Amino acid sequence: MITSYATLNEKVKDFLSKPIGLYINGNFVPAKSGKTFETLNPATEEVLATVSEAQAEDIDAAVEAAHRAFHEGPWSALTTAERSHLIYKLADLLEENREELAQLETLDNGKPFKNALEDDVDGTVNHFRYYAGWATKLYGQTIPISKQYLNYTVHEPVGVVGQIIPWNFPLAMASWKLGAALATGCTVVIKPAEQTPLSLLYTARLFKEAGFPDGVVNIVPGFGPEAGEAIVTHPKVNKVAFTGSTVTGKNIMKKAADQIKHVTLELGGKSPNIIFEDANVEEAIEGAFQGIMYNHGQNCSAGSRVYVQRSLYDQVLNALVEKANELVLGNGLDDKTEMGPLISMKQLERVLGYVQKGEEEGAKMVAGGKRAFDTGFFMQPTIFADVTDDMTIAREEIFGPVVVVMPFDTVEEVIRRANDSHYGLAAGIWSENIQTAHYVASRLEAGTVWINDYGLEMEGAPFGGYKQSGIGRELGSYALNEYTEVKSVWVKVRS
Ligand code: ADP
Repeated sequence: MITSYATLNEKVKDFLSKPIGLYINGNFVPAKSGKTFETLNPATEEVLATVSEAQAEDIDAAVEAAHRAFHEGPWSALTTAERSHLIYKLADLLEENREELAQLETLDNGKPFKNALEDDVDGTVNHFRYYAGWATKLYGQTIPISKQYLNYTVHEPVGVVGQIIPWNFPLAMASWKLGAALATGCTVVIKPAEQTPLSLLYTARLFKEAGFPDGVVNIVPGFGPEAGEAIVTHPKVNKVAFTGSTVTGKNIMKKAADQIKHVTLELGGKSPNIIFEDANVEEAIEGAFQGIMYNHGQNCSAGSRVYVQRSLYDQVLNALVEKANELVLGNGLDDKTEMGPLISMKQLERVLGYVQKGEEEGAKMVAGGKRAFDTGFFMQPTIFADVTDDMTIAREEIFGPVVVVMPFDTVEEVIRRANDSHYGLAAGIWSENIQTAHYVASRLEAGTVWINDYGLEMEGAPFGGYKQSGIGRELGSYALNEYTEVKSVWVKVRS
């Protein structure tokens, strides 16, 4: 297996060569307990770096720093234009460091370097630029009442925000949350996932270099039950923003309920991708394949249920199998690699467990189904046919490169089956018929619907889930509401 460490950027090598601390109040500091953990390269299983592990006492220090920065520090005294400028500056620095960040993302997460560079890192730069623009445009309203009274509203930042990030898009998911929080004037304590802390920790120095006042952004790597819960339950954290599994999301919501904290949750999915017989078939096949295999299926909006109208079923299934068998697996630093490893042995075992369950319940495996290579957490792209709607692999989120392909006959039938899920994150529709496409889009219970495409995300378009896929929206102007309180001010202008 190619490791390509020789080609690593010198700044990346230097960053990985020393233990990395927590970033609190503008400084890298060790955890008070002295605890550390190792982060692995999932392609080689080698240790990449040693990182300080935040405990409740470190979270407390980070929250206090964020609280001071919000209430006393220079941050809240900045004009909105100054705030905007800092975020633009950060975006420029991220762009200058795009190679370094993408290498770190590939090393820590496993994804192909090209995806890390062009999707994760460039996407992150775009997100910050987009939200930098919003900082100066957070207008309230003036509300006509009478000659005696004036009412106006002010959109104020909610305060200290706790952000908990998953491992599938480590930097990009952080940018979705940080962009809106900083634009609105909040301060942040952010925890990267324990599997992938590196890209965000590297970004810490860029916050410093951009000139963000100390304490505005605090980065606290650690584990869910210790560092994560300490963020969720800290009395000075006004809002929690989480992306991750539905199980953990429920847990967070229950804990946050105790203090009626604002909560936004971006959770799991089992998204339907529906191919009608009047689709552009070549594009639909490619969209269905990328829809599940992109990021190795470790994507909350993965199109993991593909429904194909019966007359096209065999053609689509055979084409998907061919593509799966041809996909090149390997180290993300290798140019030829189209799919990297899963994030961890735990995740690989979880995915293999679902594959076994599928076979036990009578589904027919027509591609993949096994671990690939002896080293690294690689999983073959896997396709199941002969699947019924009640099977575990058709109902539960697998979060790996595993797709079920099912035939359907009528429009109403596929709408009913697509909506028969406790998830509702995303959906795809492939049809050249404008009426079918818009009608089905209007009927699907999903926060995002793609027509004749799958998986597009841009900073201006909102993203979030129906049902158990989440609460609230990220991205676009919608996300700003999640980070602001609305204050209604009454003025008696005449007695
Ligand atoms: P996974 O089980 O695949 O690691 P999770 O949804 O549990 O996915 O993890 C996503 C993020 O949530 C990570 O940053 C993780 O550390 C954090 N996390 C996990 N459990 C908790 C918890 N109980 N409270 C707060 N954060 C948590």
